[in-house]
Amino acid sequence: MALMTGKEYIASLDDGRQVYIEGEKVESVAEHPALKPMVQTMARIYDLQHDERHRPVFGYIDAEGREASRIYKLPETIDDLRNRREITQAVLQEVSPVIDRFGDETVTPLFVMADNQALLDRYDPQYHRNVLGWLKKLQGNNWFLTSGNTDPKGDRSKQPYQQADPDMFLRVVDERDDGIVVRGAKYETGASYAHAAFVKPTVGQWLPENRDYAVACIVPLNSPNLRHICRAPLVREPDPVQWPLSSHFDEIDTLIVFDDVFIPRENIIFSRQPELASQIRQDLHNWAAQGFLVRSLSKAELLVGTALLLTEQTRLEHLPPVREKIAKLMEFRETIHAFIMAAEAMHQHSRSGMVMPNQSIQNAGRVYASTHYYQMVQILRDLAGGSTVMLTDRKNAIHPDIRADLEKYYRINDVSADARMRVLNLASELTGTAFAGRMQAYQMFAESPPMVQAMALYNTFDKDRARACASAMAGLS
Ligand SMILES: Cc1cc2nc3c(=O)[nH]c(=O)nc-3n(C[C@H](O)[C@H](O)[C@H](O)COP(=O)(O)OP(=O)(O)OC[C@H]3O[C@@H](n4cnc5c(N)ncnc54)[C@H](O)[C@@H]3O)c2cc1C
Repeated sequence: MALMTGKEYIASLDDGRQVYIEGEKVESVAEHPALKPMVQTMARIYDLQHDERHRPVFGYIDAEGREASRIYKLPETIDDLRNRREITQAVLQEVSPVIDRFGDETVTPLFVMADNQALLDRYDPQYHRNVLGWLKKLQGNNWFLTSGNTDPKGDRSKQPYQQADPDMFLRVVDERDDGIVVRGAKYETGASYAHAAFVKPTVGQWLPENRDYAVACIVPLNSPNLRHICRAPLVREPDPVQWPLSSHFDEIDTLIVFDDVFIPRENIIFSRQPELASQIRQDLHNWAAQGFLVRSLSKAELLVGTALLLTEQTRLEHLPPVREKIAKLMEFRETIHAFIMAAEAMHQHSRSGMVMPNQSIQNAGRVYASTHYYQMVQILRDLAGGSTVMLTDRKNAIHPDIRADLEKYYRINDVSADARMRVLNLASELTGTAFAGRMQAYQMFAESPPMVQAMALYNTFDKDRARACASAMAGLS
């Protein structure tokens, strides 16, 4: 298979996976009402690859003359790097500005491992062969790969090996000639409708005592002994008018339980290697943060657009104090845009010569986009007023007894009640609903906790340059 179609993607989910949601074992992931909207959204992304306008962005002809998925291509040139941004932008513009997990950034930690051949070879040359083998496989099968980094972690003041329950972090419990057996759990967005996960160590100190926990592997999501425990859907009765975002784009998060899951040799990226765990954590976002920033840009665009619609409807958009607030949202949008383009323009070469965004600029952008998002939501809430939370529900809006009341009281001059309520509903999805809350948590944590992001900036910033500047001014030699 080269580039998968939406239909092929939907059929591929019927693979015996064990998924639980709201106390129910799911018969068909593609048909379950809580999962179907995102399955359909992912199918649209797969079909987008076949759209003639986008095919050259998503696909390429590999060395063997096959059409392959570019998402999984190693970024060897500046064109590859630019192309990665264009793929993400195409999905966000054509399918939805608010989806986060569709496989483009979750593959990039495999690039990090590909980049570290010398280090991997010190432990086992098979590791690097497995990385390249999996990238090739993904280029050909076009699977949706998710990311499992975050363990339940238990007592946060303790190391993995010190936990009262040793399974609080995923660990190797058995080593066999043909592979390893892992036990534990990981949090993952989108896993219930993805094909495989790249499972790897979480943030932390990778001491020698944590050896059994220093494991990374590719795990098909229908593996025996693997259970998906999904969180509840954000809305119970999806209605695209009342909940324009959560009805379509509720990316179900899941606790994946690995109840002694067998990992064959060829799926092991490394096993029982604390130094490699440390390396992957240090470089994890080298390429992934580009995808995060492009997503942040599209969310910022939506915030600006919603603010404009709201204030045009209330006839306040011409007032300088209102424009000043909207300009703040525009500043957020343009600052993220500038970080993305600057990191790309000032790209740098990785250890092995691959092309990656400028790390210091990109890390500054990552910290900025994640720590400012909630402030931008607050500005939109301010501009929207209290109507977003006082708005009646959709069933009332169409009830024959009261429809005329609502048409009268929600109308503003030539803005119909329907148009007004739709924009308020959208503003509510960005500021007040469960969808809004999850999105804020995602912006804050999905790129790892804010403190860890700040450390990445500290580590990649050119401190010698700054020190030299200050030393010269201080008259130090
Ligand atoms: C919407 C959403 C989607 C996500 N999707 C994924 C996914 O697909 N895959 C995945 O792997 N993960 C995912 N995550 C998880 C995310 O990576 C974690 O939430 C994040 O790493 C923080 O971990 P935690 O939630 O366990 O918080 P905690 O580790 O409990 O942290 C809470 C706070 O305590 C601080 N803290 C914790 N330990 C210490 C310490 N020892 N010293 C000082 N401060 C400490 C943290 O900095 C943070 O501020 C997702 C999260 C969200 C919110």
